[in-house]
Amino acid sequence: MSVEQAPVQRADFDQVMVPNYAPAAFIPVRGEGSRVWDQAGRELIDFAGGIAVNALGHCHPALVKALTEQANTLWHVSNVFTNEPALRLAHKLVDATFADKAFFCNSGAEANEAAFKLARRVAHDRFGPDKHEIISTVNSFHGRTLFTVSVGGQPKYSDGFGPKITGISHVPYNDLEALKAQISDKTCAVVIEPIQGESGVVPADLAYLEGARKLCDEHNALLIFDEVQTGVGRTGHLYAYQHYGVIPDILSSAKSLGGGFPIGAMLTTDDIAKHLVAGTHGTTYGGNPLGCAVACAVLDVINTPQTLAAVTAKHERFKARLEKIELFSLVRGVGLLIGCVLTDVWKGKAKDVLNAAEKEGLMVLQAGPDVVRFAPSLVIEDADIDEGLDRFERAVAKLLQG
Ligand SMILES: *Cc1c(COP(=O)(O)O)cnc(C)c1O
Repeated sequence: MSVEQAPVQRADFDQVMVPNYAPAAFIPVRGEGSRVWDQAGRELIDFAGGIAVNALGHCHPALVKALTEQANTLWHVSNVFTNEPALRLAHKLVDATFADKAFFCNSGAEANEAAFKLARRVAHDRFGPDKHEIISTVNSFHGRTLFTVSVGGQPKYSDGFGPKITGISHVPYNDLEALKAQISDKTCAVVIEPIQGESGVVPADLAYLEGARKLCDEHNALLIFDEVQTGVGRTGHLYAYQHYGVIPDILSSAKSLGGGFPIGAMLTTDDIAKHLVAGTHGTTYGGNPLGCAVACAVLDVINTPQTLAAVTAKHERFKARLEKIELFSLVRGVGLLIGCVLTDVWKGKAKDVLNAAEKEGLMVLQAGPDVVRFAPSLVIEDADIDEGLDRFERAVAKLLQG
């Protein structure tokens, strides 16, 4: 039995939603694979992937099956009880990574919040209260809770909300000497995005991550990789640390992990995990059976040599054509996290490129004002890549015509 729903339009957003977002003028209503349809029935190709979330596109049959089967079985029991999907997901993640233990939550910010609290708790237990400083990088992004915007350190996200969390410093990204100068025996953790996502798709240099690992070891500090954007196959490896071969102590994951269903995870080793004893941290929904069942299905599809190899092949397919586009001075990124840096003439105009693409029936992202970002489904059909790039080239041609 279908229930009659009141019609809603984009104008309702301004009327009844808190204005912290500025969504596009159209409302997507349905998706299938890498195609999306809006209220007017217009079809768009999705190169945005819900901001690196819809790793298997829209309504992937394996995810629909996992979600509906779980929806007919058990939704929620809280962490007063454990549940089978959470245990299965933890096994999959532990088997596939450096980690021995998993903690589940509902977003990237929460995964990082857990990581930062754990790092401070470990240092507190082992060395005392003075060892609480966290070193982060300039232009990093770790989420929107007060702790995570404080660690992110970008004033546009963290200013104007009263006192920030203290004991945090920021050093330039990819600058090992700066990290070396800042790190001390008071440092409890260094947190790095292996590829800075939100602020321009900037990959770390291998020597930088290797050097950070060494400095952390020398100072008894934990190395945290924020893999919320780079994780779960995005780089053609399950996690970006595997692409680099540098192993963190704590890793945060979210976005693609649920393929569109909200879930986050913090992964770590036995030795570190043991400091988060019963009662020290938690969240009501964390490890929810619905989210965990979907994430299990996500991993089953993505964590295969075939799917991961295809991500690298699709990167080349994108890059070959993007490199010929005259708006861009550089195409960077790994796997299906691609950033195209605008030339000096087009600097600051990423939003105009997004709008032009939308007019041609294509959803893309920006990563700051100077970079156009592509984070499509990891299983996007080659035909959809080609058609999407045709549309993108048409949008660029129109922009160039003025
Ligand atoms: C998106 C993102 C976050 C925040 O995740 P939310 O689910 O929005 O809380 C944290 N870190 C990185 C690197 C991200 O890209």
